Amino acid sequence: MTHDQDDPRKTIALIAHDHKKAELASWVQRHAGTLDRHRLVSTETTGGVISASVSLENLTRVKSGPLGGDQQIGAMIALNQIDLLVFFTDPMTPHPHDVDVKALTRLAIVYDIPMACSVATADLIMAAGFL
Ligand code: PGA
Repeated sequence: MTHDQDDPRKTIALIAHDHKKAELASWVQRHAGTLDRHRLVSTETTGGVISASVSLENLTRVKSGPLGGDQQIGAMIALNQIDLLVFFTDPMTPHPHDVDVKALTRLAIVYDIPMACSVATADLIMAAGFL
């Protein structure tokens, strides 16, 4: 995915751990009118759950998170191709790819892009008029 400086659209990464995917899908559904005007990229399974509840033509998918999808999104952040990271993490379940989650969080800080790990923060970012 290229990032054209003259393109007013932003690119939003959407990721959710398994127990949070339904929450993210309903958040996307709630903000579909706004999100539709931008580019969306998600990890494979998250994208599948989102697409099952809301139809978005501008959603592309990378690999599943545990298979490298989180790192693909991380690489996009390093290339300045991501403007907002919405990653609904599950604090109650251990994940085999925890290191990837940590790396992704770190890159979001390094490149100073907004990152929402919960509905409350994601809603605040939307209410702030960021998109
Ligand atoms: P998934 O990956 O959307 O393919 O489940 C998300 C994750 O990083 O757990």
